[in-house]
This record gives sequence, structure tokens and C-alpha cells, in this order.
Amino acid sequence: MEDTRLYAMLLGIDFPWRISKVQVDMASERIDVWVEEAAGARFSCAVCQQAAPVYDHASEQVWRHLDTCQCRTYVHAGLPRTNCPTDGVKQVRAPWAEPRSQFTRKFEMRLIDTLKECDVTGVTRLSGTSWDETWGVMMKAVARGLSRKERRVPERIGIDEKSVGKGHDYESLVCDLDRGTVEYVVDDRKQESLESYFRQFTAEELSQIKAIAMDMWEPYIQAAQACVPEAAEKIVFDRFHATRQVTSAVDKVRRGEHKALEKRGDHRLKGTKYLWLRNEENVPEWRREEFVAIKNANLKTSRAWAIKEALRDFWSYSYTRCAEKYFNSWYFWATHSRMSPIIVAAKTLKRHLANLLTYFKHRITNATSEGINSKIQMVKLMACGYRNREHYRATIYFHCGGLDLYPRPETP
Ligand SMILES: [Zn+2]
Repeated sequence: MEDTRLYAMLLGIDFPWRISKVQVDMASERIDVWVEEAAGARFSCAVCQQAAPVYDHASEQVWRHLDTCQCRTYVHAGLPRTNCPTDGVKQVRAPWAEPRSQFTRKFEMRLIDTLKECDVTGVTRLSGTSWDETWGVMMKAVARGLSRKERRVPERIGIDEKSVGKGHDYESLVCDLDRGTVEYVVDDRKQESLESYFRQFTAEELSQIKAIAMDMWEPYIQAAQACVPEAAEKIVFDRFHATRQVTSAVDKVRRGEHKALEKRGDHRLKGTKYLWLRNEENVPEWRREEFVAIKNANLKTSRAWAIKEALRDFWSYSYTRCAEKYFNSWYFWATHSRMSPIIVAAKTLKRHLANLLTYFKHRITNATSEGINSKIQMVKLMACGYRNREHYRATIYFHCGGLDLYPRPETP
């Protein structure tokens, strides 16, 4: 097969386009391919699609294409320009590339596939593209995916906050719990952050939301109540977040008691922090004996821990009524414990009880869609060096958005 025909096939071009020249330079492992249009070819105006004759040619452009074996491969063309009676002189679109791209479509698709497997730095090393070029491809892929995204309100959503970098900067994420996708990412965790998601939809569309998992975070609650019809029955506070309130209360009790004991020369609580934070069955085998002894000792920390462990049973109820009854007796115990961190945590839960009980109807948590959290964790690791929020957001959409990212030739 002639090399010009071979490259026409590899590039996927057809009449009126043809390969005019192929130049192989084995010393620098590089192949250059020139494309031109056949004599007398007519194109349609890029604006109105009316057929128009070739008027002149733009200056030569170069696109990087997929490598040919070990050779970097580049496509060259001076694209024809049409002169349309209505729209004037317009450049014809190259069928092998997206407008304004320096890569062929097939090369861009390869970059997208590689970006799915490793971070931007890894991609630059594998493909020899620059940092800016690689980010450019990712950002464009995300923009493309978002513009193609079907307008749709998920039935069950989860609202999650993620810290960015080391500071106290946050992003709010809206997830579709059924599809396991991130639907929306926005700066901050304020009421207006979340409202900006809801405001994309009409009240009628929003009424299709059946349940919303979220932390007991006032701005999110306010946003949902302001925008989602019958939010009060739909909000479900995340059970893991609720449990964490009590777990950190246990830790506060431990810190206070440890200090007091140390003063008396009693070191029993030393090095036990993580034993109390774990669920009992997750205490490592080699510390089991030590833990059994200490949890049975007459310590405030062990009492606080027992209260925390008892709360876990709350979530195992099948019926709202029974769960509520159990909660009330737990609450009585916790508030009579004479340990103020525990009392404060119990009161927080009581204040939010109505939407802790909705769990028994909707059975959702922010961890409901398996996999999405681990994916976001991975993105966070990849993004740990990002100072750029736009990059962070794009990375989340890229990996977790369930978007259609590939460039496609326009269908006439
Ligand atoms: Zn035109």
C-alpha cells in the first residue's frame, strides 16, 4: 500500500481530502504528513453550511497525531477558506481535529484515555505533551461533557463537602446517589453554594427529588428548605456524620480525663486515642486484651465510649417508631452522663432528630453510592498540589461526572 493511502486511512480522511506527501525521518524518529484538498473541491461555509468555492488558503497549521510505531507523527495542512456571499471569508474545518486544537481528534482521545489512568504529570511524561497542553485537553473534555449533559434532577442526591488543599477552603459536591456521579461542584459550603445548584431547575423539576443526604450543616439545610418542595421529609442527615459528633465527644472526654489522671501519675489512657475512636470490632487483635481491660475500668472515657457504641444500634432498626423510642432512651442516658461533651453531642442529635429518623424511610447516606467516595479521594490525592480550584473542579468532573468526554466529528 502506498504511504499516502495508508495515512489517509489512519487519519480517517476521505474525498475531497487527500495526503499529498509523507516524509519519514528515521534519525529523529519523526513522520510528517501533508494533507490538502483535491483540485476543484467545494466546501460548505462554516457558518451557514451553504456550498461555496475555495477562495484561498490559511497559512499552514500542524497537528500532533498518534505516533506511528516509535515515530512522533504530525499532520500539516493549510486549510482552505471559502468566500460565502452572506458570511464572507471563512476557514473550512479540518475533519481530523477539533477547531483551534493542536492535536488530531484521535490524539486527543488518547490523551483523555491516559488522563483517566494517571495524573497530569504522568500524562505529560508518557505523551510528551506540556503541562498546559494536557490541562487544556482535560478542561476542554470536561466543558464538552458538561455541555452534552442531559438536564435532569436525580431522585436521590447526596451533598458533601470536601476540603481543598491544606487550608480551610471547601468545595460542595452534589452527587447522584443512584448513578454514583458527581453532578455539581461549587466553591464554599454556604447556603448560596448549594442554592446555585438548585436554581438551575424549576420548582416542578425539584419536586422530583425524593431524598437528600447531607451533614447536619445549617447552610445546606437552609438551601434545601428554601428550594426543594417538602424538603423536611426528604432531608436525611448522614449517619456517619451524626456518629462522628459523638465520637469526637468521646475524644474530648478522653483528653480531659487523661490530663487529670497524668497529674496523679496514672498513665492508663496514654496512647489509647485511636482505640476509642474505632468501632469495637476494629480494635486490632494485639491490643484487644489491653482494650477490654481499660473499657471495663471505672473511667469516664469508658462510659463515654459505651454511650457512643450504644448509638450504633439506633441505625439497625427497621421502623421509625422503634428507632425513635430507642433514641429517646439513649438520649436520657447520654444527657445524664455528667460529661458535658457527650451532653452537647446528644443535644445536637436531638435537635436534628426529625431528619435523622428520615433515614428509616429513605435508607441513604453520603456513602450510599459505593465507589464515588474512593474516586473523590483519589482525585484529592491527585489534586493535592493544586492551587487552582478550576483544575480541582475539572478533575472531579472528569473522573466522577459520568460525562461523555470524547471529541466527536460534527454530524451534518
Ligand atoms: Zn455562509
